[in-house]
Amino acid sequence: MEFNGIEHYDVFEGDVIIFWADISGLPTEIQAIAQEIDGIDFDPHGFGVCVNYSFVDKEFYLVLDMGCAGASEGEERNLFYIDQGGDKHWLKTDIPQELLDRIFEECGKVVSNIEKEQAKAGIRLETLSSSAELAVSSLNTAELEKRLTAYLESSELQADIECLARDYQAQGLPVPPEEQLREEAAAEARKCLETMMICEAEGHLWKEKDADPENGTSTLSCRRCGTEEHLRW
Ligand SMILES: [Zn+2]
Repeated sequence: MEFNGIEHYDVFEGDVIIFWADISGLPTEIQAIAQEIDGIDFDPHGFGVCVNYSFVDKEFYLVLDMGCAGASEGEERNLFYIDQGGDKHWLKTDIPQELLDRIFEECGKVVSNIEKEQAKAGIRLETLSSSAELAVSSLNTAELEKRLTAYLESSELQADIECLARDYQAQGLPVPPEEQLREEAAAEARKCLETMMICEAEGHLWKEKDADPENGTSTLSCRRCGTEEHLRW
């Protein structure tokens, strides 16, 4: 069995790095399964393993696919074959520790580069957040007041006031006078407008979460305004 390099990796900061490593020279019974899947399109270089590096534990481990529910211990599938359609098929074979060690070693080089970059980025991030604070203070107040005025003249305000009143009622609280509700709605709107204007000016602060290596999906959410985007990779 041979390790042919890291095909790609994805970094989920503070969580894991997912590595996809190419392997070849698999036992004939494993090759036969893949041949059955792909027929004449069978690619002897279509095999790989998935390795994770945990930022928390600072450790590498082989990712196992547990297969269908009810699979007993020891049945975890440890390698995959990617067919011509791009679908992953998880299989099981004995992977020599020596091969794993070589893969971990190669991944380790990537990790140390990433950790160096992160150390530098930490400094950049500090600079960035102070410039974000600056953006808040130098926010285009004229534009903000214009948008707020538009809101105060819109039917949206009346709807929000009614919504607030219903909230008070739902909680069994006395409903404050309309003027107070109006102020509450305006304060809420100002906060939202500020958030959005900063987001527009600065661009979104994306954070990746809910990574699902099996299906190759994750979610990007903006830390500031909460916008979400779903990714396929
Ligand atoms: Zn945003």
